[in-house]
Order: sequence, then C-alpha cells, then structure tokens
Amino acid sequence: MLHIFADPADMQGDLLTVRGPEVNHMKNVLRMKPGDEVSVSDGRQDKDYRYVITEFQEDAAVLNLVGVEEKDTELPVLPYLFQGLPKGEKMELVIQKAVELGVYEIIPVSMRRCVAKLDEKRAEKKAERWQKVAEAAAMQSKRRVIPRIHMPMTMQEAIRYAQTCADVRVLPYENQQDDGSTKALLETLREPTPDGKKKGVAVFIGPEGGFEEEEVKEAREAGIRPISLGKRILRTETAGLMFLSWLTYLLEIS
Ligand code: SAH
Repeated sequence: MLHIFADPADMQGDLLTVRGPEVNHMKNVLRMKPGDEVSVSDGRQDKDYRYVITEFQEDAAVLNLVGVEEKDTELPVLPYLFQGLPKGEKMELVIQKAVELGVYEIIPVSMRRCVAKLDEKRAEKKAERWQKVAEAAAMQSKRRVIPRIHMPMTMQEAIRYAQTCADVRVLPYENQQDDGSTKALLETLREPTPDGKKKGVAVFIGPEGGFEEEEVKEAREAGIRPISLGKRILRTETAGLMFLSWLTYLLEIS
C-alpha cells in the first residue's frame, strides 16, 4: 500500500487534501483511483492513518479517513549517524540505506581525510537534495518519521552536537581491536531509561581514508568510545549500515 507523509494542518476532520508531487505519483504513476487506500503518517511515531481517495482535482487529491491503527515502525532507540563526507554520490546511497535501517538523523561531517570539500552554497544545495532522498526512502520503507539530514558540520561541531543528543556515543575505528567492549556497550541499549524516553545513539564513521589519530583522541576525550566492527575493513558506506543493522537485531527482532 502507498505510504505518504502529511502535514497535520492538511488533515481537517476526516478529510485530507494532498498537494504537490505525490498527487502526480498517485494519479499518473500508480494509476490510483477513487476508492483506493493510502496509509498516512503525520510525523507521530505510533500512528498509522488509513484513508481512501475520494477524488482527484486539478493539482490535489482529496482523501477520507477510514481508520487509525497503533503501529510503530520506529526503532526503540534514536540513532544519529555522523558520516565523514564520502566522495561523489556515495552520500545518497548512505542516506537511502540508513533511512531504511531506521536512522533518526544523519549528520554529514567534514573530517581531516575527507576528499570532498563543500562550500556553503554547494552544501546547501546538497543538503536539500539529501533531505529529498531521505523523504523518498522513508516513504518507501513505511517509516513514521522522515529522518532529518543536517548541513555538514566540522568534527568539533559534530562532537558537541553528539553530546547534546546521544546517551551512547561510539566511533567505529579501523585500528581498534575487538576486546568485547563493543558488545557490552551495545547491550546497555537494552536497558530502559528511568523516564521511558528513547536513548540517543551516536555513531561516527570515518571517510574513505579513515580517521586521523588526533580525531579519535578528540572524540575519546569527549566521551565517544572507539569500537571495532569486526575483523574486516569495511568501506565508509558499509560501516554505518552494519552498525545500524546490528541495532535492529539487538533491539527489534524477537
Ligand atoms: N582507509 C582505512 C579504512 C577506512 S574505512 C584503512 O585502510 O584502514 C572507513 C571507516 O569505516 C573507518 O574510518 C571506520 O569508521 C569504519 N570502519 C571500517 N571497517 C571497520 C572495522 N573493522 N572496525 C571499525 N570501524 C571500521
């Protein structure tokens, strides 16, 4: 079933008016007809609204509410992916896959060994494009929320931001030996918080060239723990996805 995101302001009583590119998608790509069902999120984590299409207008679709279900497709933690800016179009791949795997926010980080350099103007355009990639992936994977993609940050800014949003902060480091601490740390995520709120988990991934020792030291001093992701060296676009897929296994699969 088609899953879309709607602004609560467009949900009036039982009526929802959809405008923008989704209308063309529904009408001309999926060839939907009045009477067809659509699942709708309003950004709240645990609600799935069911609507049926009542009519298509020039540039809008009018839908009628038929039911609300309690359905949470979000992870029980909030993962923040701090991704060292990769080369070329790889960031789009990382965003698409990370959204499928349940990421909550993605923060592109300009690290010392990043080849990609973005000036302010290009960064803004990229961030806009990246947000669209996140939205499409969120629709596709039937997420309840659209993950936020930030403007690129420096490593210092990223470290500071992680301190504000995440209870558990890790940095998968290619030179880190597995000593059992990765598993022990992940296990702590299973413990509920006293106030019942979801825990934030920050994960820092280096770019193609990896981390400089100095960066690992700075991160460690700010309470970010270097961890191993196993015996093989993963590409920058694989590493974050590996970590996120662990979270599903650890916290979601019964
Ligand atoms: N050029 C480096 C590898 C960089 S891999 C080298 O040849 O050693 C890119 C990033 O992925 C790393 O900075 C790290 O964050 C992550 N990564 C890849 N494999 C890893 C592993 N086995 N353990 C921990 N982190 C890893």
